[in-house]
Amino acid sequence: MITVRPKIDYDCDVLIVGGGPAGSGLAFHLASKGIKVIVVEAGVFPRDKICGDGVSPIALAELEKMGITGTKKFKKANEIKKVGLFLKDSKAFIDLSKPDNLPFHARIIPRIELDNWIYEAAKKAGATYIQGTRVINYSITSNLALVELKNADKIFSLKAKLIVGADGSNSTIARKLHDRKPQDDYQLLGLRAYYKNVNGPRDRVDIYFNEGGFPGIFWMFPKGENGANIGIAMISKTFPHKPPHIKDLLMTHISNNPDILERIGPGEIEGKIDGWPITFFNAKQKIVADRLMLVGEAAGLINPLSGDGIQYALISANWASKTIEKCVKTHDFTSEALDAYTKQVNQNVGYDFALSDLLVQFPRNKSFTKVWMTILTVMIERAKTDKQYADIVAGIFEGTYPSYKALTGDFIIKSLKQGGIEIGKALTNSLINPSDTINTSIEVTQQLFKLIEDLKAHPKAHLNWVGDTASKVFTVAKHAAKSNPIAK
Ligand SMILES: Cc1cc2nc3c(=O)[nH]c(=O)nc-3n(C[C@H](O)[C@H](O)[C@H](O)COP(=O)(O)OP(=O)(O)OC[C@H]3O[C@@H](n4cnc5c(N)ncnc54)[C@H](O)[C@@H]3O)c2cc1C
Repeated sequence: MITVRPKIDYDCDVLIVGGGPAGSGLAFHLASKGIKVIVVEAGVFPRDKICGDGVSPIALAELEKMGITGTKKFKKANEIKKVGLFLKDSKAFIDLSKPDNLPFHARIIPRIELDNWIYEAAKKAGATYIQGTRVINYSITSNLALVELKNADKIFSLKAKLIVGADGSNSTIARKLHDRKPQDDYQLLGLRAYYKNVNGPRDRVDIYFNEGGFPGIFWMFPKGENGANIGIAMISKTFPHKPPHIKDLLMTHISNNPDILERIGPGEIEGKIDGWPITFFNAKQKIVADRLMLVGEAAGLINPLSGDGIQYALISANWASKTIEKCVKTHDFTSEALDAYTKQVNQNVGYDFALSDLLVQFPRNKSFTKVWMTILTVMIERAKTDKQYADIVAGIFEGTYPSYKALTGDFIIKSLKQGGIEIGKALTNSLINPSDTINTSIEVTQQLFKLIEDLKAHPKAHLNWVGDTASKVFTVAKHAAKSNPIAK
């Protein structure tokens, strides 16, 4: 049978919405294969993006494939060889081993530079950019994706064979596809402040936990000679109490934590403190449809445990380019053809993201914050003395170690053993200082009462939490049963 294709004057094969790491990464791969690409970007490069600026070894390996790692500027970026973990008096300083199969240690690269490097590489490969322009709508027919753009007061449209949403956590394309805005069950809120004139070291990132700021993580990442990126990422939806305003949490942490104060030294804030949502993976939502695909954070490709997303933006761009190349050759842009990309995403990160989503679900319940402080203290104490254990903990935060791989008997037994050692220390201490035992008993009793009061005051919130947790356990179990995750 001969298929007659209508003659349409397409402006490009693929129109990519957003020129961040996902959009420009995809533009690079497609243009390198001779596919006609237009990237529509709301900003104008070089443009900033609110971020911790931590670029993991996996992300750097993707940049190497794009020829971006040979420059003097890349070599100057802070190479991260150590991570500090802090919770009250528990502190661990872990030497980061470079993963064997990856070319670099993690680096801190301000997004105003990183995204510009990827944009330059994509342009050099042949991609066309339309900057300072937003995509405001699109429609799909059997023959084309018609995309509506707005530049200042001018509205115009372009015709493409395929539209790709790479427009980040608040994606216009994903909202229309899912017919809803991102849900707060699948969001973190992030806040970033740049500092100048801080103390060293230049090669260590620090992560801080504290009870008031939980379930959130604070960081201090070195930037350049004497700058720093300091911030917080916090789970948006918590039970039964709402978290306090994250700007207050960040400022309280910076003013009161002796470890960060020592590192900031004479440093001062540079520019504005800015926030941005982080949207993570909801396996129930589609990431492809006829003539449409989502990549990077528009597809929710973020690890909710660490907030790490640059590596998934770059990797998903690479996966998507392989599927799109085939679709361009076969002129088939149906959702069935594009689904090869969905399968690749599910196979590689589905299990890990489902498990991370479940792990994030537990600390959402703020009635158990004290328990989490104990678990984190146990992990930090173990990481001090056990290099293999420390590598796993650091790898999970760095995004090089999938969380499902940590679920080995060895890791769990070591954590439990350390828990036993901590209890032993507390018991010994109570024999030496009986007054401490009384204080601890009072504290435990107070916590129990608080928990019972919380349960009585917010029964519905706790029930909802139990229901959500059960559903997430079920999702993880499904993945565990059927998945054969490809090791990163
Ligand atoms: C506070 C904070 C800290 C973070 N820290 C880290 C970290 O240290 N390491 C890490 O790996 N990840 C971190 N992340 C996550 C990381 O920023 C994202 O995962 C990453 O930026 C996703 O890349 P992307 O290309 O998918 O989207 P983005 O980088 O968000 O790019 C989307 C692009 O689309 C453009 N755009 C949006 N809407 C439109 C439209 N309608 N039309 C045209 N253009 C549009 C935007 O201008 C933007 O340039 C952090 C995020 C936050 C908020």
